[in-house]
Amino acid sequence: MKIAVFSSKSYDKKFLNQFNHDPDLELVFIEGKLDSHTAGLCRDYEAISVFVNDVLSGDVIEQLHEMQVGHIALRCAGFNNLDIDAAKQKGISVSRVPDYSPVAVAEHTVALMQTLNRKLHKAYNRVKEANFSLEGLLGFNLQQKTVGLIGTGRIGIATAKILHGYGCELLCYDKFHSAEVEALGARYVSLESLFSQAEIISLHCPLNEETRHLINADTIAQMREGVMIINTSRGGLIDTQAVVAGLKSKKIAHLGLDVYEMESELFFEDKSLEIIQDDLFQRLSTFPNVLITAHQGFFTQEAMANIAQTTLANLALFRQGQSNPNTFLVQI
Ligand code: NAD
Repeated sequence: MKIAVFSSKSYDKKFLNQFNHDPDLELVFIEGKLDSHTAGLCRDYEAISVFVNDVLSGDVIEQLHEMQVGHIALRCAGFNNLDIDAAKQKGISVSRVPDYSPVAVAEHTVALMQTLNRKLHKAYNRVKEANFSLEGLLGFNLQQKTVGLIGTGRIGIATAKILHGYGCELLCYDKFHSAEVEALGARYVSLESLFSQAEIISLHCPLNEETRHLINADTIAQMREGVMIINTSRGGLIDTQAVVAGLKSKKIAHLGLDVYEMESELFFEDKSLEIIQDDLFQRLSTFPNVLITAHQGFFTQEAMANIAQTTLANLALFRQGQSNPNTFLVQI
């Protein structure tokens, strides 16, 4: 079976080739993204594999159906970039990697918190230039700080466990209460209470119509002065214009982002010699108290190995006419 692997970088090739021991899975690596302009490349492939910024809108699904592509293997957990109803309607099965390493993203979340707090991004550059002054580098103890976690699924739970180790007080908001998180002493509260009490707010819920721009001018107004906001989930959870205003007014004292609303135009590519056209992103980058990483929360050896193994297992199941209820979003 021939599989077109979109958005494939050197590291995707390395891990997928390393774990592909199945002679029936022929992986063809395509560096570019899948969208309505590139969907034509899927002709002659029975299955495709995609990543977070590939576009699987209704019209792309329609094109895949016409080209008789039978399966979409997402190499990620989130599926906000996929029109799931269109896939069901066209009879294209879809698999994903639901929990390749929640700990990888949780550890990156706390790394962002602590880098911003202790200003390591500033300290690193200072020491390199023989500037050993501590002026402006004052941080705070994480111990006894109130952290609000929005979404206590796999990554939220892993983050709660690390922060519990730091001695933080944990407030959570989710429709479903996790006994694992409650066992740490965390309390579920309303979203309003979380916004008004938390000194640090970290987002771990999926992006959907309900959560789009969850962080906006109104919700920022409910937050404490000097709040830290961390987003390692999906860029669309934050109204970027509103956080820029919050940073300018100093209501938001720290912002850590691993994801960004318009990241599909920027992330995963070297743009260092280009003129960036996204003025909002450029404005964000100028704040000394904003730290942005380019969607690398998942990027550990353990997670990459798990992504490759699960994706290959999903593709093999599809080829055998089978599925796995834990990893298949659409079973045909
Ligand atoms: P999960 O499905 O295990 O947990 C998501 C949780 O969010 C669930 O408990 C769910 O009930 C809750 N939720 C749903 N709607 C909510 C709402 N309106 N308000 C509050 N909570 C809500 O998912 P996960 O594996 O923990 O991943 C969380 C998100 O992290 C994913 O959706 C994905 O977007 C993102 N992610 C990012 C990276 C990265 O590299 N930065 C990697 C993997 C996943």
